Parts: sequence; structure tokens; C-alpha cells
Amino acid sequence: MATIKETVADPRLQLAIYSATQRLIDHRAGAVGFKVFPEYQDLRTLAHDIKKHTIEHLDYYLEQLEANVVAHGGQVIFCEDAEQVTDFVLNLAKQRNARLIVKSKSMTTEEIHFNERLEHHQLEAVETDLGEYILQLAHQRPYHIVAPALHLTRYDVADIFTKSLGVKKEVVIEEQTKIARSVLRDKFLQADIGVTGANFLVADSGAVVVVENEGNARLSSSAPKIHIAVAGIEKLIPRAQDLAVFLNLLGRSATGQPLTVYTSFLSGPRREGEVDGPDEFYLILLDNGRTKLLADPDKRQSLYCIRCGACLNHCPVYRKIGGHNYPWVYSGPIGAIITPQFHGVSKDPWLPFASSLCGACAEVCPVKIEIPKLLLKLRAEVVEAKQREGAGGLERLAFRMFSWMMTHPRVYLMLACIGSALAPITPKIGPLRKWTSQRSLPPLASTSFHKWWAERSSK
Ligand code: SF4
Repeated sequence: MATIKETVADPRLQLAIYSATQRLIDHRAGAVGFKVFPEYQDLRTLAHDIKKHTIEHLDYYLEQLEANVVAHGGQVIFCEDAEQVTDFVLNLAKQRNARLIVKSKSMTTEEIHFNERLEHHQLEAVETDLGEYILQLAHQRPYHIVAPALHLTRYDVADIFTKSLGVKKEVVIEEQTKIARSVLRDKFLQADIGVTGANFLVADSGAVVVVENEGNARLSSSAPKIHIAVAGIEKLIPRAQDLAVFLNLLGRSATGQPLTVYTSFLSGPRREGEVDGPDEFYLILLDNGRTKLLADPDKRQSLYCIRCGACLNHCPVYRKIGGHNYPWVYSGPIGAIITPQFHGVSKDPWLPFASSLCGACAEVCPVKIEIPKLLLKLRAEVVEAKQREGAGGLERLAFRMFSWMMTHPRVYLMLACIGSALAPITPKIGPLRKWTSQRSLPPLASTSFHKWWAERSSK
């Protein structure tokens, strides 16, 4: 895995990240402008309010959702963590003698290393989204939450296909798609279980809503006899009519599409008279740390995220360091706020600081999550945690001395005089040398402000 330094120094990778994110930025801009979509800002406010209401009444809506899924013949399984999800799927696969699983793109399953866990038990799980399939062959995790293989060029993909599938090197994208399709069609036909994620869970109808552009989620949920949807508990929305708000925002924010190509409403197994659909339907509702976020009234807004990826595309840090330098599957600004909350602020303490706080993420977030505000809160928690652990003593001492000096004007003046006299002859060592290697130190003024002010006032 490339380090931050390697990513920044790799012109090919920089171009791939920059051009792909710029394309997404331009497409979004073309889809949300006031002339083409005057309701956009109102819908953002509405989406924020709906998510706020839902998260604050999560218990009520979860129960409502469960009752409706069961009424349609499905089953709901509440799982606390990755182990519980794996145990459920393994048991089911064992009972049904299942060997092959086809999967559509789902960040929730990435979060729990679903494929690797199943493969460990000799169950084959095949990704069917083209980007995810390429990454599975390359043994990589997603680079971006919407465009998982954003960092790979068609030449990289040609190499991956040749190495993994034994096909001749093919650099034409349409031909590469045909290669993937020829492998995946067979997998769809042979699969015992189909696994999807969920973009939204509609409490009042029990529907699992999946949006996609390739049709693979539709095949994964309807071709195999068993369909399992794995979703985080925060994917809930109260009513079917709320979908009008979120579907309008999601496609536009993610790829600039007014609506994604396929929107599937899945609720329960195939009913009598229906021509397709699974015989069995299971909805796994995953916590995996989400309920921890509910305790803080500010930080719980992280759960409003609809995973559109717009904050990643607009983040100057993500656009430089790419997706694989973030410690978890969620990268960019949303990764920087949810990773420390799920894993604890001490695990990757640098993460909330990986932001210029320019605010671009909050400007484009379709559900108006106050990302910079949460980053600041998390930074304060990192500092507090360091203090509790007794770390950062030197830094604390320096700030105490600085604070004392600033409250004692005579001392400040004396030190300022000494500092300005010594500055030109001070050797540039340590952090100062590093800092000045990239920029020049501005020359100090020939006279201090205090002296200048005193002279000016006496005139
Ligand atoms: S935080 Fe907002 S902009 Fe970022 S992925 Fe989530 S919904 Fe999209």
C-alpha cells in the first residue's frame, strides 16, 4: 500500500485522482445549479431535518421497519458486529448447502471484511460491481466510496485481468467490460445466495432501496434463491415519500445524475404470481459501533451520511493523498469524522487533523453534516486523550510558558527584543529547517510594534 509521501510523489496516481474527482465535481455542479435544480438547497435542509428526526427516533423506526419486513415474509437480524453477521451467513449457507455468493457494492460489508471472513470458511463471495470486481481481483480495498477503482487506469485494469483471469491484455474499456461480464454472468446463474447493501431502509413500507448504475445489484437480489441485504441501522428513513428527497440528492451529489440508472425497491421474498425474486429474504441490520455515536447530540449527525462521496471529491486533502492512506474503508472528510468515533480517537489521532478546515465538504454535503465543526470537536478530544495519557507534556509546557509571557507585557517586550536581535543569526535546525525548506521566513520588522506605536503617539 502506497504511503502518503509515495502517493503525493506519483504523478500518474495524482493525475488519476485529480481528473476523476474533477469530473465528479463538474458533473455535480451541472446537476445542482439553481437554474437546473432550484429546489436543491431546500431539499438539503429537508434531508437534514428528516435524518435528524429519524436518528433521534431510531428505536421507533427500527421496530416499524422490522414489523413491515416480517409482514412481507422476510426476516430481520440485528447484529452487533462483524462476527455476528458472519455467523448468521455461515449458518444459513451451511443449512442450505450454499457455496457461492454474488455481491453488489456495499460499503457496510467492506467495513466488516465480509468477503475475507467468508472465504476463510471456504465460501466464495464474488463482487459484481465492475469497480469492486477489479479491486477484488487486485486484492485492494475501495479507493473511494462511490467510485471504488478511481485510482486505476485502463492499463492497470488490463494488467489485473491478464494476471488474474489469464486473458490477453485488453486496454479498450468496452472490451474489458465484456470480459468481466462473461465471467460474472455465469456467477449470477450459479450463485446460491445474493448479497446487497442498502441505500435506504423505508420504515413505513419495509422496503430496502438499492440504487446503482450497472444492474448487478438487481441481478444479485433476484437471481439467487436467497437474498441477504446488509445495512447499517442509520440507513433508515421514515416514509416512502421521503425517498423523493433523498433520491433526488444522492444521484446528483454522487455522479451528477438526476437519478441513478436502476432504483430497486426490495421487500421480502417473491410472492405468488411474481415472475422473479428470491425464495428467502433476510435483512441484516448492523450496529458495529453506530449506537456509540448516538450519545453526543452534535456528533450523531455523522449518521446522517448517505455515502454520496461529494465531500471526498471536493476535499483538497483527499485529492492529494487519495483513498488508501486513510486507515479505514471510509476515506475523505466523512472517514475523518467517523473513523475516530468508531475506533476511538487514540487509534489514529492524526485523522481529524487531516483537513484544512476549508469547509468545502460541508458546502457540498447533501444532508448538511457540519463536518468542520465535528473535526474540531474530535481534535479537542484527541488533545484531551493525549493529556489523560500523559503525552504532549512538552507541548503543554510550551503553551503554558507562552500564555504566561503574553500576560506579562514587560517580559514579552524584553523577549521580543532579544528574539529580533538573534533571529538573523539563529541557525535553521530541527522543525525550523524543515519549515523553511519549502518557504522563506518573512524578515522581521526593524522596529517593534510597541516602539512604533509609542513613537507615533508621542508625535
Ligand atoms: S458526509 Fe455528506 S458529502 Fe460526505 S459522503 Fe456523506 S452525505 Fe456525502
